[in-house]
Amino acid sequence: MTDSSHAAEPVAPVYSVPQERKIVTAIPGPRSEELHARRLAVVSDGVSSALPVYIERANGAVLVDVDGNRFLDFGAGIGVTTIGHTETSVVAAAAAQLQDVIHTLFTITPYEEYVRVAELLAEHTPGDWAKKTVLVNSGAEAVENGVKIARKYTGRRGVAVLDHAYHGRTNLTMAMNYKAYPYATGYGPLAGDVTHVPGSYPYRDGLSGVDAAARTIATLEKTVGAADLACLVVEPIQGEGGFMVPAEGFLPTLQAWCTENGVVLIADEIQSGMARSGAYYASELLGLEPDLVLSAKGIAGGLPLAAVTGRAEIMDASQPGGLGGTFGGNPVACAAAVAVFEAIEQNGLLAEAQRIERTLTAGLEQLRERYDVIGDIRGRGAMIAIEFVQPGTRETSKTANADAVAQLISYAASQGVLFLSAGTWGNVLRFLPSLAMSDALIEDALSVLDDGLARLG
Ligand SMILES: *Cc1c(COP(=O)(O)O)cnc(C)c1O
Repeated sequence: MTDSSHAAEPVAPVYSVPQERKIVTAIPGPRSEELHARRLAVVSDGVSSALPVYIERANGAVLVDVDGNRFLDFGAGIGVTTIGHTETSVVAAAAAQLQDVIHTLFTITPYEEYVRVAELLAEHTPGDWAKKTVLVNSGAEAVENGVKIARKYTGRRGVAVLDHAYHGRTNLTMAMNYKAYPYATGYGPLAGDVTHVPGSYPYRDGLSGVDAAARTIATLEKTVGAADLACLVVEPIQGEGGFMVPAEGFLPTLQAWCTENGVVLIADEIQSGMARSGAYYASELLGLEPDLVLSAKGIAGGLPLAAVTGRAEIMDASQPGGLGGTFGGNPVACAAAVAVFEAIEQNGLLAEAQRIERTLTAGLEQLRERYDVIGDIRGRGAMIAIEFVQPGTRETSKTANADAVAQLISYAASQGVLFLSAGTWGNVLRFLPSLAMSDALIEDALSVLDDGLARLG
């Protein structure tokens, strides 16, 4: 039954770039090679690019490079353009805001858009209590502020993080990452009072959530002690670590321990938040109601914006002037974020993330039956990963296979599909598409992955 006159009928999106892959040159093509030579002369070697094709346009789920190649984008700028590249309502809201006010600095003369974003965050983050927000520019800055706020509130210094975590590249956050290389090597001295403790990695530790949490808590009590701990920072679903979904009960058990001991539980939902997981925040899927929630990446459709949102009494412990920064909560980024929240609601995007999970996992389970290098398939919503192992080790040592991931990513790129790697050992292929990625495009990408798997040497 169709009723096109019905006002609530979702409007099919109109794309300015054809939603299909098309490769017309070598990858990278000649114009990308030219730009790359210029870049090598002037851009720091400390900044790398996974695939040096230079992008000229992006729309929906597709990137177009300067040589006219079109790529299906399963990275979305690491989960940033969650609602689609150059999404119409985000472009319109940002363009309108550019005409009105670009900058005043909220800590000098405030504006409504900042307040509106804080209202939307209070409404959509987990937990049914009074919440407040501070807006900043990047994920790492949100982590830094979350830790500052927790320290001020508790009067304690200690910060605990989980193994396989990734929290950023600033001085404090590089001490909070699991991997030293490339994030911290040579950049010391690192910030002190950061303790690393085991988390839950069901594929490799085989522990129940409650047992994994007991191990985490025992380590915390032994190595730092609750009395000195300001906060425990967790990614409900770990991002760079490889999309580990903790075993059931892990996060609620940690939360109960934190509450009992006056430790602030901070959920770093910078990658897993903003509809990515099929819920607004992945915490909701895992029984977690954190004291503070960090948002960034997908919050403003591609513009830089990040937030710390949480219990009002914790957020208000900071003295006036202690939080903020020149660009934090920029009006254009805030206007875009309001459009993102509206698009999630109006276009039913939580359901789109759930659709992507169903289509991707069904296709990947079929591939697993045929290729024994596929060890684990995991994730939620439009945040799904495969962990690769060496042939013949799937049921035994589960020996990491980074080579398979590198070969598959390179083959897929040559066919017009952009995949990202992840994982402590580089042996995870992650799918972080925008919610504009159709089932047909997912099937197409899976067929490329199938060909790549058949070619693995
Ligand atoms: C990307 C990311 C960060 C850092 O965000 P930036 O905006 O790059 O500073 C922190 N935590 C998680 C979980 C991330 O995925």
